[in-house]
Amino acid sequence: MSDMDNIFNRSVSRLGFGCMRLPEGQDGEYIESEIEKLFDYAMSHGINYFDSAWHYIDSQKMIGKYLTPKYPRASFILVGKLHFHEDTLHNWKLAMEGFEKELNDAGTDYMDLELMHAIGGEESLRVIEREDFWRFMRELKASGRAKHIGFSWHGKVDDLDRLLTEHPEVEVVQIQANYFDHFTNSRFANGGGYDTYETVHRHGKQVIIMEPIKGGSLAQVDKHAEVKALFDAADPTQTPPSWALRYAASLDGVLTVLSGMSNLAQMEENVRVLLDDFKPLMVSERDMLQRAAAIIESKRPVGCTGCRYCMDKGCPAGIRIPNVLASLNTLHQYQDLRIARKAYYESVGEHRPVECLGCASCERECPQRLPIRQLIREADETLWAGENYDIWANH
Ligand code: SF4
Ligand code: SF4
Repeated sequence: MSDMDNIFNRSVSRLGFGCMRLPEGQDGEYIESEIEKLFDYAMSHGINYFDSAWHYIDSQKMIGKYLTPKYPRASFILVGKLHFHEDTLHNWKLAMEGFEKELNDAGTDYMDLELMHAIGGEESLRVIEREDFWRFMRELKASGRAKHIGFSWHGKVDDLDRLLTEHPEVEVVQIQANYFDHFTNSRFANGGGYDTYETVHRHGKQVIIMEPIKGGSLAQVDKHAEVKALFDAADPTQTPPSWALRYAASLDGVLTVLSGMSNLAQMEENVRVLLDDFKPLMVSERDMLQRAAAIIESKRPVGCTGCRYCMDKGCPAGIRIPNVLASLNTLHQYQDLRIARKAYYESVGEHRPVECLGCASCERECPQRLPIRQLIREADETLWAGENYDIWANH
């Protein structure tokens, strides 16, 4: 457990339950009996931090059905998030209705912590400034219905630094962090590089970590023989996810590490690694992970740097070239077709590489001289699995 020296003045479990991916059946309906078991297991094994959001469809209703009625409200920390974007809560009236819905669905009259959800992109920052949602959040806190406030971040480091300077009322920042993006500080880290963590920590804010296993990407990296050899030499009893979890939980100033646990086996493993047998990472182990990250990075078959020069003049077919190439690299780096397909489906947008007109304008601009037309075709042939492919299903 984290000690009492935090904004909540109480113990906070080192492992937090991210309620974004509660168990669902094939029909997309929640499997409520399993959700209840997960909440019960969490509460009886020392997890007292539950991360939810207005935007996670009906997950708060599950909390209101299987958590808040069964356990004293003070026995757990409940976190909500409001989504201030143009297509969601884009004015104060909607924002207040959203907050009321969160409380109502979760069966509570306060949130221990309320975050601005997934801010950092140009559009979310514009909406927040235009509507002065900073004041909205301060007023929620003043009303006592949100005990603490902060935001979850997916943006550029410079913007983060500026906002934390301008808004000292922010108490907590939730960020992505994992050993691979930290040691490579990749352009593709999407706000999850070491500089993001360092900025939050430097401003003295408490850090909540999400995606410590990089959305599952780091779960099978031991398929690379050199990585497996490193892991085994350091400690053969540890799994790839446990190395990733221990790295995240060992960073200074971390309040909790979130894991989106959707089955009991996952939760048992995470409880073992982060609560029952937690061992902070030793310096030698940190060095080992740095070497592992360098090996994984070296497995990128495509030398795309993400510079986006190919997009400066615009692809006439609307293909998001760097995203497509990044998905191809994902497949080779993480050795997991499901993870690579998920990355591809999430990033390819409306125009697949099959729409390429063959104009070669992208290749003329690319400083790496990449055979882009051939590579994007290869990516699509490998990663596209039809219109109805479900990126969340366990294929
Ligand atoms: S060759 Fe294809 S991918 Fe490249 S700019 Fe032309 S249409 Fe776009
Ligand atoms: S110009 Fe080349 S290196 Fe730069 S993003 Fe495009 S494909 Fe990648």
